[in-house]
Parts: sequence; structure tokens; C-alpha cells
Amino acid sequence: MAKGALAALLFMLVFMNYAPIEACIRRLIPDWRWWRIAPTFLFLFVNLSLLQRIFIRRPEADANAIRITLGIGAVFLVLTVFNAGVGIYPLIQPARTGKPSLATSHLSEQDSLAMKANGKRPNFYFFIFDEYARQDVLKKYAQYDNTPFLRSLQSKKFNVSFSSHSTASTTRASIGNSLYYSIQFRLESETMAGIKFPPLLRVFKKAGYLTYILSPIYRFDGSLTDFMMQSAAVLSSLSIEKTVLEKSFIAYLQAVGNEAIRTDRLSLLEQAVAIMGKPQKDPKFLFFHILIPHEPFVFDENGGAVAYENMNNWINAKYYTGQLRFLSAKIGELASMILRSDPDAVVLMQSDHGARAFGGMNEEERRASFNCLYLRGQDMNIEGLSTINTLRLAMNHALGLKLKMLED
Ligand SMILES: [Zn+2]
Repeated sequence: MAKGALAALLFMLVFMNYAPIEACIRRLIPDWRWWRIAPTFLFLFVNLSLLQRIFIRRPEADANAIRITLGIGAVFLVLTVFNAGVGIYPLIQPARTGKPSLATSHLSEQDSLAMKANGKRPNFYFFIFDEYARQDVLKKYAQYDNTPFLRSLQSKKFNVSFSSHSTASTTRASIGNSLYYSIQFRLESETMAGIKFPPLLRVFKKAGYLTYILSPIYRFDGSLTDFMMQSAAVLSSLSIEKTVLEKSFIAYLQAVGNEAIRTDRLSLLEQAVAIMGKPQKDPKFLFFHILIPHEPFVFDENGGAVAYENMNNWINAKYYTGQLRFLSAKIGELASMILRSDPDAVVLMQSDHGARAFGGMNEEERRASFNCLYLRGQDMNIEGLSTINTLRLAMNHALGLKLKMLED
């Protein structure tokens, strides 16, 4: 009896925790495919059964096997409860309000004094497309020429830089720097305290803007956010069912994850369009950080679905460039819409870092970022500016600030 229980339990463990196990395998074997799991584990379980036949013969060995089974079972139970807890916690956590702390002091008197009070300010749309690489890196590692797209943005009066870089190669540090509009973080570990009162939102609130926020990794105080955009995929992934089942093999059998992410990304882009099209008395500030073209790759270049096994495939660059091309078409539509319906706006579109997972990249290439700025139709040379300095330039223009260009 003990033999069967032990084997069944190990099978359950693998089944329910398939995603983290596969993540480990993937580190060792980059082009691992999910369907290899069946023969591999069948082989392991057959061996396990044989080992049991050899070693578990006497009754005391049987008792030991039961003990081992109970031990593993207990760990499994704790893990499941923990997963469920992780799912419940964000849902029961109240929207806390507190006092602005450290971040407050960042907005110096000088900054606020420099702000002009000259009539209506332009709408300011700040898009961050996570992991959107620069054209030279795309060419070198993905053999893809993105310059026609960049030229088309230029023809829509967007100022494009062909040599910009971000201030960090991790999302948390780079987005954190944008939220401070200065270089606060180099390492991800420095951002762990979170950013409840980002100076970027404070300065726009102070200038009388309505703030529309999409932020998948940081949570801000409610006093700074007038409208929080909802990510359907994040919400459903927070549910207990999702946190427990999401890591299991079930997710691999149904391509549910894929479809949920596709719907989510499309709906977020539509929400951004709706916000931009909505007439408001007060100027609008949109902070829109979206996890695309970042993996998982769920769109091909025509917007079609991608097979589950290729959702994280960096070996064949076409999955990354496919998603990037689909997104670029959407960005092109946004740019046309600005020209048509809000030509007086300021629109900053950039990435938080470049592509990072192609083999043999160096740090500089990982930070080589997409970066372009529409300044109410004006020509502005932003060539070579870092993403942070481009943001500062845009803020100077929209808010009348006098932020200096930073060294880095
Ligand atoms: Zn990122």
C-alpha cells in the first residue's frame, strides 16, 4: 500500500507544480518542449517503482515508506495552502493610505516654483512597452529591420532616437527611475520597499492633472491615482483557483493562459485609446506600463495565437519579433490617433530596457531601448538621450519645469 501511495503522491507533486519544475528544466535545456514531460516522467516513475520493489520488502521498510509519504504529503499540503494564501492576500489587503514618506522630499521647492501657471497644460501620455528593443539590437540578434516602422513614426511628427538606452536592465529598477524621473535605482533589490508616492505622479497631480494609471509591478497610494486601469489577467491570476492550478500541468493542456493574456493585453490597449479619446476639463496624465512585447509571446505579427510551447521561446527570434511587430502596428494606430484628435498632446513612448534574453548579449545591448517623443508636433532632437532624460525633457516642455539633463 505504501508503495502505491508514495508513487501517487510524487505524481501529484509533479502534476501540480509542473510550471516551476519546467522553469528549472528550461534553465538547463533552453529548447525544452512540454510534450517531453510525459516520456521523461514515465521513465522516472517506472524507475521509482523498480527501486521500491527492491528496497521496500520488509514490513518495517513499508512503515518507513509510509512515513516518507506522510512527510512529503505534509510539505505538499503546506505548499498548496501557501499558494492559496498568496492568492488571497492581495484581495483582502485594504487600499492603505498613509503619509508620504521619503519620496516626498524628492520634489524640491525649486521644481514646484519653476512650474508655470500658463493656461491649460497639454495632455501627457507616457507609454512604457516592456522589453521593446532598439532597432540595431533587433537587427543583430533577430535579423529584423524595424527602421521602416520608426520612419513611419517620424512621418507622424514623432521625434525618434536611434541610440537611446534605459537606466537599468531590470524592470523594477528602470520603472522605479521613471517614477522618480531620476536615477534612484541600479539594482532590483533596491526597489523592494515599493514606491507608494512616486514623485512623477505627485508633480502631475500638483500641476492639476487627472492621473490614469496602468502599473503591473508597483502599487501607488490612492490619493495620487484618479483612475486605475484594471488588468483582467492579473485579477484572475490572484484568485485561489488560479494560483493553485496555474502552476500545474492543467494549464499546459488547456491553452487558457494564452487566451487570457491575449484578451488582457488587447483590452488594456483599448482602454488607453478610450482614455485618450475622452474629453476632460482637466489635463490628463496617462502612465501606461504594459508587459508587451515582453514574454509570454501570445501574438504573432498578425495578432494570431502562438503555440503554448513557444510562449517563452527566445531561441527562435520570430516569436519575440512577431509580438513586437503586432504591438508596433498598435503603436502606429495610437500615433495616428494623436495626430487626428489630440495634436497638442505630449506623447512619450519608450521601453524600460531592451530585449534581454538573446544569447550572447552584453549589458549595454540589454539596455538599448525604443524611445520616441511627440511634442505637440514640434521637432526636437532626442538622439542618444537616455529614457530618463527624454522623460525630463518632456516634463520640462509640458510643465514648464527646468530639470537638468542627468549624467549616467
Ligand atoms: Zn521590463
